[in-house]
Amino acid sequence: MKKIECEIIEVQDYPIPGIVFKDLTPVWKDQDLFNILIDKMTEIWVECEIDTVASIESRGFVVGAPIAYKLNAGFVPLRKPNKLPREVYSQAVSLEYGETEIQVHKDAFQESKKVLIIDDLLATGGTATAAFKLIPENLVTGFGFMVELSELNGRKKIEEISDARIESLVIYD
Ligand code: AMP
Repeated sequence: MKKIECEIIEVQDYPIPGIVFKDLTPVWKDQDLFNILIDKMTEIWVECEIDTVASIESRGFVVGAPIAYKLNAGFVPLRKPNKLPREVYSQAVSLEYGETEIQVHKDAFQESKKVLIIDDLLATGGTATAAFKLIPENLVTGFGFMVELSELNGRKKIEEISDARIESLVIYD
């Protein structure tokens, strides 16, 4: 996995002072690396009978949708406020650098049995735990991330509310 790590660019003080932003776009634009990335993030879950991948707008969609396709699963977008046209459930999200909200259609998981939550990056775990709370109890089978910033303890935050498996491809200590 060394190569993926090498292509991630660290941007100091973005979007606010004190944050080191991991710019993942160089990995996504490289056709070989993007292929490897999606294959690796998918193969972890192939035996898990995932029927639904839920991803978080917007960077989560970049990895979530191709993983859903490869797992032969459906895709559910967890979106920023006021983007979904029908009735929604909402959850507040506290980020490493601010506050927001995510929403999902109320009927999105009606036929789901095993849901995989996918996002680009795990930092404080605020987004992933909010996503978990939007999904009916016992359906979440796993959490998959491209990158994990382990010193921000997002994994611990998820483990406080869920027993589901947590897998990250690139982990920064
Ligand atoms: P968190 O809720 O703190 O785990 O933050 C996760 C979300 O915020 C992910 O969807 C990322 O896209 C974004 N994010 C948070 N911190 C960073 C960072 N240092 N670099 C890049 N993206 C970040």
